[in-house]
Amino acid sequence: MKQISIFIFTSALLLAACATPTSSNKSKEKATTVDTPLTEEYTPVEHIFEDLGYSYDALEPYIDAETMELHYSKHHKGYYNNFMEAVKGTEIENQPMQLIFKHISSQSDYVRNNAGGYYNHTLFWANMAPEGYSQPSEELKQTINDTFGSLDNFKKEFGNKAKGVFGSGWAWLVKQKDGSLAISATSNQDNPLMDIAEVKGVPLLALDVWEHAYYLKYQNKRADYIDNFWKIVNWEEVNRRFKEER
Ligand code: MN
Repeated sequence: MKQISIFIFTSALLLAACATPTSSNKSKEKATTVDTPLTEEYTPVEHIFEDLGYSYDALEPYIDAETMELHYSKHHKGYYNNFMEAVKGTEIENQPMQLIFKHISSQSDYVRNNAGGYYNHTLFWANMAPEGYSQPSEELKQTINDTFGSLDNFKKEFGNKAKGVFGSGWAWLVKQKDGSLAISATSNQDNPLMDIAEVKGVPLLALDVWEHAYYLKYQNKRADYIDNFWKIVNWEEVNRRFKEER
């Protein structure tokens, strides 16, 4: 009997020892649960609600201040709050968003929608800036030319994809695993980092085509909102993501 308990104790120690490289306290707590092994190491993160980075009227006249205020302080904040509440005390609480999205199909629709809503808007704010702020880098322009024929043609194809979204969703410029660029669209708050995405990869450019993003100013003219987007794209940020995420 004594021998058995020693054996169990030793096994537990071994299990704990095997699991320690995964640094976070949460991983250590999980170490004795043999049927849920942690297969991916990560550095625990705090999910924060980032500053907008510019004033609500900075994107006028293409996106009005009232829309920006509502969109950022109500919609985006709402997704963030819901996400934080939903993951509190769960194993994904301090996981990087990329890792959460990689396994998003194992989460509830509620977590998926709010995680996406939180993350997508952070990207969206950052890839916009006041008119004339920046241009695509030579390197990015070259890759866009090689992929889509020209920058103008890329804008047309991206715009058409955005205009083709039925209901609520997003349009994306995605850098795929092999380094190639692709244009895609997702429904609701899904994004290309999610394991359920049709086109997977790192998002370089995001455009929100939910009604809440444009309806106050553009009403039913979603196409005008999409065409005007190019005037306020922060290419500097797109250049950075393109260079970094390879
Ligand atoms: Mn939105």
